[in-house]
Amino acid sequence: MTPPPMKPLRYGQQWLDEEDIASVLEALRSDWITQGPLVGRFEEAVARWCGARFGVAFASGTAALHAACFAAGVREGDEVVTTPLTFVATANAAVYLGARPVFADVEPETLNLDPGQILGRVTPRTKVILPVHFAGLPCRMEGIHEIARKKGLRVIEDACHALGGQWGSSDGRRQRVGSCSHSDMAVLSFHPVKHITTGEGGMVLFNREEFLEPLRSFRHHGIVRSSGEEGKAEPWASRMQELGYNFRITDFQCALGLSQLTKLDRFLTRRRQIAREYKEAFQTLGLWSQPQDSANDGHAWHLFVVQLPPDRSSDERRRIFEALRQEGVGVNVHYLPVHLHPYHRRRFLGKPGDHPVAEAYYERALTLPLFPSMTDAEVRRVIDAVRRVMAGRPTTAVPEAVSRTRPQEGYEWTRNP
Ligand SMILES: *Cc1c(COP(=O)(O)O)cnc(C)c1O
Repeated sequence: MTPPPMKPLRYGQQWLDEEDIASVLEALRSDWITQGPLVGRFEEAVARWCGARFGVAFASGTAALHAACFAAGVREGDEVVTTPLTFVATANAAVYLGARPVFADVEPETLNLDPGQILGRVTPRTKVILPVHFAGLPCRMEGIHEIARKKGLRVIEDACHALGGQWGSSDGRRQRVGSCSHSDMAVLSFHPVKHITTGEGGMVLFNREEFLEPLRSFRHHGIVRSSGEEGKAEPWASRMQELGYNFRITDFQCALGLSQLTKLDRFLTRRRQIAREYKEAFQTLGLWSQPQDSANDGHAWHLFVVQLPPDRSSDERRRIFEALRQEGVGVNVHYLPVHLHPYHRRRFLGKPGDHPVAEAYYERALTLPLFPSMTDAEVRRVIDAVRRVMAGRPTTAVPEAVSRTRPQEGYEWTRNP
């Protein structure tokens, strides 16, 4: 008798239920399918959840980052200081506007932008500091905020990993990621591997009203409603004031987002549970993982990243990666540091050695499956597979379903993000 086929585990995936599907169908049956009432309701709901005054939703997290940089005043020739250990979209937001991404290295203990490194990268051209809460662990925002205040810079949090993340400020208060207590704007993504999904989608959160109109018009070709030329009454009048884009999200996507948001607390609890189990199990194997950020676990655990012990080479990482995939455990690597991508090497002359902490991390990094619908049995399956593969024992029989789905179609779409 052959055992029942096992599904290969991806590193992340959405969790949709019948309620989510029903709410999308309802939106599709309404009079509006794009830019109807649900966009505003979703913006308000997410902003309220995070503790920000305003939210403006976009077609993707990437579009939201691009818009946030625009609203912060990033233009041709400017510089944006950010981390090399991120998805390429973070740095590209600056590039789209003709600005240069300037990378500062990360801290080895958190893999987040090192405030000490930021200062050395600030020049008279710097406009924005763009930190990323890597894998969901909040950055040291007070330090970053302080540098920005002294240098007259804007801070935009790339919070695409960190919806639900929290940290404690020095006055003893819990600060929610997205509340923008120590930044100008925070950006979320609703890609299916993130905490909640709208298929594709993103949002900029902020507290200052001055960003509202630039963000909204950037989403809609830079067009602004106006009273008409030279004060003439033209009730139909609208004028394109800036070069904007079609970065709109649809009403039925926002219906999905609203439904998903009601489950966010449950999703976060499960992510934290799995992360705790992983941490316990992997400590004994000498696998490094990020700190949980204080007793309250403010880590939002978008990704569970580990680093192999120093005595394991980069070749060993490849062997372990391949062996785990053979066993149907969808490991990944987040991320090749941005300055080492061919485009960034050509255009901005990035090279190996520029950011040694991020690069050293990358050489021995692995991302393990982590998503809220994982069953206890699946969590155990990952832990057992990692133990076995780390011990270097030959892999056991490949589950039938895994060998049938290879080579790798099942993984293609989850390649980052
Ligand atoms: C997912 C992600 C983005 C981009 O979001 P999309 O919605 O996929 O466009 C940007 N930055 C980081 C760090 C991300 O993880």
